[in-house]
Amino acid sequence: MSKTGHIGVTTDNIFPIIKKFLYSDHEIFLREIVSNAVDATQKLKTYASVGEFKGELGELVVRVSVDKEAKTLTISDCGIGMTADEIERYINQIAFSSAEEFLEKHKNDANTIIGHFGLGFYSAFMVSKKVEIVTKSYKEGAVPMKWSCDGTPEYSLEETTKATRGTDIILYIDDENLEFLEEGRVIGLLKKYCKFLPIPIACGKVKEWKDGKEVETDKDNIINDTHPAWVKKPSELTDEDYIKFYHELYPHSEEPLFWIHLNVDYPFNLTGILYFPKVKNNIELQRNKIHLYCN
Ligand code: ADP
Repeated sequence: MSKTGHIGVTTDNIFPIIKKFLYSDHEIFLREIVSNAVDATQKLKTYASVGEFKGELGELVVRVSVDKEAKTLTISDCGIGMTADEIERYINQIAFSSAEEFLEKHKNDANTIIGHFGLGFYSAFMVSKKVEIVTKSYKEGAVPMKWSCDGTPEYSLEETTKATRGTDIILYIDDENLEFLEEGRVIGLLKKYCKFLPIPIACGKVKEWKDGKEVETDKDNIINDTHPAWVKKPSELTDEDYIKFYHELYPHSEEPLFWIHLNVDYPFNLTGILYFPKVKNNIELQRNKIHLYCN
């Protein structure tokens, strides 16, 4: 099968709107695309646990890689993938009513806009001149598909070859956003936004010092902690574990005075660790130190 089509939006062309209005916070595209990859991987794990997927799970890692020559940033997962029908439904049909009015009102707040429209995937166009999806569904006999779109509402969808299950999202980074082809910058963003996502995320290789030089090993550089302290049971943790975790988040701080491990089931679900710093005579304002990681 091979086709071209028109992405289902009610406004003529959302891409200039995405590019024009979302001029702040460009960097959040990476969080959106990586979260989708993590979600797709978790769905596969769920299908495996209920017997709906019976194949080999293999190594479930999300890989983020930069190709400076091709000017691409690729996010690959081994999750559920998509069939042609699913691409049609989840990617091509975007509900986008009264868009302009809403965008005008919230033009400085990319998070609100992206959340409101479920436009996570399309935030890729904030930094890309072309986006490709190469995907193979976990379903038996699935035909691998390639979707391609160069920032106009026209897309193409065709059969392709892909040996392994899952999805590659290939971003052709535009000239104004070349910073996202620097591996250091990408790793920084992954650490900022994806630090505790529940599936390992790899970017580049671990580096080591050897004979006074930094050399690359063949070990994947995993940037996140998939099992942070707050998801563990208090009985599994020692005081040292709590203090170590605190220092990972706040490297230059003193030890906390005490902490409370929260595990609330009702009226809402909440797990967390609340740390109390030592109170000093001259109270320091703890500005810019609150981190919120939410799913
Ligand atoms: P949301 O994630 O809020 O639903 P998105 O625009 O980010 O909105 O993604 C739309 C849909 O496309 C997802 O709900 C999912 O069904 C599908 N999708 C996106 N990325 C992937 C992926 N890596 N693997 C499988 N499906 C995906």
